[in-house]
Amino acid sequence: MGDLGYFYAVLQITGFIGGGAMLFWLLKDAIYCDECSIDLKRCTIQERYTSEPLRTLQQKLQVFKNKLKTEPPIAAISYHAKEMGTTKAVDTHLRTRVIVHKCDRCGVSHLQCDTERSISNKYWSGLPLTRIIHWYKPENSHNDLDRSK
Ligand SMILES: [Zn+2]
Repeated sequence: MGDLGYFYAVLQITGFIGGGAMLFWLLKDAIYCDECSIDLKRCTIQERYTSEPLRTLQQKLQVFKNKLKTEPPIAAISYHAKEMGTTKAVDTHLRTRVIVHKCDRCGVSHLQCDTERSISNKYWSGLPLTRIIHWYKPENSHNDLDRSK
């Protein structure tokens, strides 16, 4: 009985940790539509690699951010495609990644742009405080919806 109790305790602890990791994974990846109570679907991913200095990239990211505020999102996305570097990682140390998620029901879209630094051939690490997030609806796409995340 003692052994069984111990077994259940271990099960509970590992279950708890597993659940926590799962929740973390979900929060990390899933974006939720408050109005429709469903997860948004990933519809666009765009990556660009560059060997420019970080400061140059940050200036471009500022332009990208301004475009999101003042123009339809497609303008910012095509700016990112043209100006942020190449589509392949060859002697590059920085990468920006634009991911757009969209709600199937109401059409609200969530754009996220991350800047990452190369730490080896395969691995990239996000630079802190560089994430850009923008929510928009197709019909009034240049209006920020003023959501906190
Ligand atoms: Zn929705």
